[in-house]
Amino acid sequence: MPSNFLKVSCRDCSNECVIFSRATTMISCGVCGATLTNPAGGKAALVGCNVIETLE
Ligand SMILES: [Zn+2]
Repeated sequence: MPSNFLKVSCRDCSNECVIFSRATTMISCGVCGATLTNPAGGKAALVGCNVIETLE
């Protein structure tokens, strides 16, 4: 299974950040603190952000 980085945009404040697609910890927005991803079965489940771009 490929692992890569995702450029995402926070749904609440539109802040853009880069996350690891298989992050195993909860990731919060650095600006507004909203939860962006939750760990789910070895990959990150996007809960509060939209994917802008997949980075190799
Ligand atoms: Zn935010």
